[in-house]
Amino acid sequence: MAKEVLECSFCGRKKAETNLLIAGLDAHICDKCIEQAHGIVLEESKQDSKHELTTELKLRKPKAIKSFLDEYVIGQDQTKRVMSVAVYNHYKRLLQPKSKDDIEIQKSNIVMAGQTGTGKTLVAKTIARMLNVPLAIVDATVLTEAGYVGEDVETILTKLLAAADYNVEKAEHGIVFIDEIDKIARKSDNPSITRDVSGEGVQQALLKLLEGTSVNVPPKGGRKHPDQKFIEVNTENILFIAGGAFDGIERNISKRLNMQAVGYGASKEGEGVDKENILKYIIPKDLKDYGLIPEIIGRLPVLTHMDPLDKATLRRILTEPKNAIIKQYEKLFEMDNIKFEITDGALDFIVEKAIEYKLGARGLRSLCEAILTDAMFDLPESDETKFKVTKSYAEKALDKSGIRQLKAVS
Ligand code: ADP
Repeated sequence: MAKEVLECSFCGRKKAETNLLIAGLDAHICDKCIEQAHGIVLEESKQDSKHELTTELKLRKPKAIKSFLDEYVIGQDQTKRVMSVAVYNHYKRLLQPKSKDDIEIQKSNIVMAGQTGTGKTLVAKTIARMLNVPLAIVDATVLTEAGYVGEDVETILTKLLAAADYNVEKAEHGIVFIDEIDKIARKSDNPSITRDVSGEGVQQALLKLLEGTSVNVPPKGGRKHPDQKFIEVNTENILFIAGGAFDGIERNISKRLNMQAVGYGASKEGEGVDKENILKYIIPKDLKDYGLIPEIIGRLPVLTHMDPLDKATLRRILTEPKNAIIKQYEKLFEMDNIKFEITDGALDFIVEKAIEYKLGARGLRSLCEAILTDAMFDLPESDETKFKVTKSYAEKALDKSGIRQLKAVS
């Protein structure tokens, strides 16, 4: 009897023609068919996870997005409205099947201009939380052009990958918050005088990411691991949010407003200008005059501003957000069965100090820590069941804690 010739039951290749032939119950499969089948499995699971993602990304309507933001971010109404629409449109674009009608919805990358500590990062974080997508927060000041000391722009995606637990699909639907975008403004009007390593060059490099492209990302980041395998990440559906204080831009805006005011109908327009909040008149041209290249501005089509935090807003920040600082202390004390109370007078005092020391919203937390540390040290081992902070308690505790330190931090 002739010896049985083993062959792949799928493609018919003889054993000799394969590198590997694996036997099953009644059949065999060769390495090539395994590879092909594996490819099909991967493709299928990609479709599945895409489906999962789209169902996960439950699209809320702009008003619902804004209500969600309202729970965490106090004030900043204009930004919250603009963001709600931008995010809605961005994810509508994602969920839309490839259109047959050539109408391609473009990305709604966003730029937020506002003083530090006014909630820019908080807005980005809250949106990522709402959408349940990974978020990478990066500082534009550490970025440099490839080949120079600092970090290549690709490391932005390294961070996003890490935030997505290295799930590329998830990362590709994530959000990148680029802080201090104003710090990579072009330093001089004439780009050819010297090489502007951390300015225009970085903007050019960023442009590619913002445009939507496939990038080979070093998963471990940096150049310290030269032999790592790159992971390809497509940035087409990543939402980029840039933030910056744009120190001094108010001067340009005022100048522009004044120039307008000189013209026809001047007095009427000039009168209405809110001098306390010049930033609210910002337009893309101001960013260009500040030193962002037009291409970058074009890729960040949604421009919005953050209002400075006034006394009333700071006061609300202490108690109103879902995870407000005061609510956190209540919870901490509650864990020791202590009912924590703070009077209106004490809250006002904290706000006044935050303003006096120019600490902004970030300072509220440090002030509370300074005031409450002693109590948090002593009370857990006492029999107290109540702890009330009055204005005079707050004053004394703050005095004792060394206000100067706080000042130094700012
Ligand atoms: P920015 O990114 O503009 O520098 P952040 O978002 O980091 O400011 O804000 C610093 C902190 O101040 C936040 O963690 C948050 O607790 C608080 N904060 C700032 N602005 C607001 C706001 N509008 N509503 C609620 N909290 C705020």
